[in-house]
Amino acid sequence: MKITAALENDSGVFVMEELDLEEPREDEVLVKVAACGVCHTDIAMRGGHYLLGHETSGTIVKIGKKVQGFKPDDRVIVTYTHCGKCRACKDNRTYECDHIYHFFNGKRLDGSTPFSLNGKPIFPLMRQGGFSTFTVCHENALTKAATTLDLKSLAPVGCGVMTGAGSVMNYLKPEKGKPLAVFGTGAVGLSAVLAAGICGCDPVIAVDKNSARLNLAGEFGAAFCINTSEVENISATIKNICGGIDYGFDTSGNRMLLEQLRLALNKGGKACGVGIGGNINFSCKEHREGKTWGSPDTGWSVPQKFIPRLLDLQKEGKFPFEKMVHFYPFNQINQAFKDAEEGKTIKPVLVIE
Ligand SMILES: [Zn+2]
Ligand SMILES: [Zn+2]
Repeated sequence: MKITAALENDSGVFVMEELDLEEPREDEVLVKVAACGVCHTDIAMRGGHYLLGHETSGTIVKIGKKVQGFKPDDRVIVTYTHCGKCRACKDNRTYECDHIYHFFNGKRLDGSTPFSLNGKPIFPLMRQGGFSTFTVCHENALTKAATTLDLKSLAPVGCGVMTGAGSVMNYLKPEKGKPLAVFGTGAVGLSAVLAAGICGCDPVIAVDKNSARLNLAGEFGAAFCINTSEVENISATIKNICGGIDYGFDTSGNRMLLEQLRLALNKGGKACGVGIGGNINFSCKEHREGKTWGSPDTGWSVPQKFIPRLLDLQKEGKFPFEKMVHFYPFNQINQAFKDAEEGKTIKPVLVIE
């Protein structure tokens, strides 16, 4: 079938193109896209000739012969794909699937893609292709949107929201009453702030240079917001607040912020990050003090289990991630990327249907 998708031209400008989309194979579904969020991974992967967009929500139009558990008209959230057969998948760690990077590059296991432009294959990042009117994806990428919340608000749950909340709830698993700081409060960091509140962390501290984001972090339950454009010694400020943190989460990948996180971390402290290229390498002494660092891809989220839990928390009013979302019509995709890159909008979502 013919579909409309936003692809970058040679000058890096998104233009609408008419693509061909194959029929779903026996383990795939055809989804009519409702909306798709703009994630920082899309920004990082620009210029790579992918069909971008991997925070997709939509409605199933057609299912392959072997698909079970989904039917046409089901409302779904599309996330990363896993094979379902490797050891990690069988052990319920689908985020560590042997084929995760293969799928990340938009390929089926046989190397093909359902999208093409004038006969030339187009690979959808993370096997999603959310910046298009329809997509064909693997059934393992789907989670039912079992909630009354509108599909367009749900789009970012499948990447940014899940990653931030999962890094806290699945990886750090903080003890109630202990201090936790989030460095970088974009959509991922703000989701982590909400999750830290749900876990009962006390206090929750947010660190960023953008005051609008920090205001939302405060609204989301951060008791202390540290603006890095006003405060010089961040770790000393944190120690003044609570004597140091037991848990830290970084989304910035910024070396200076990571160093401040390291200095603020108490003995036995657990920290992790998802910022591109950002790591803490603890010294032998720090290791002996029980300090640990991890980089939990997707926040160690198994979407089919974790997303329903987040949607229940949203229903109860404890996880109002929809407040981060700012909608753009599909044809304003260039503006949405510009605003995301400049930090003007926390979570731009393109409304496609
Ligand atoms: Zn993402
Ligand atoms: Zn697998």
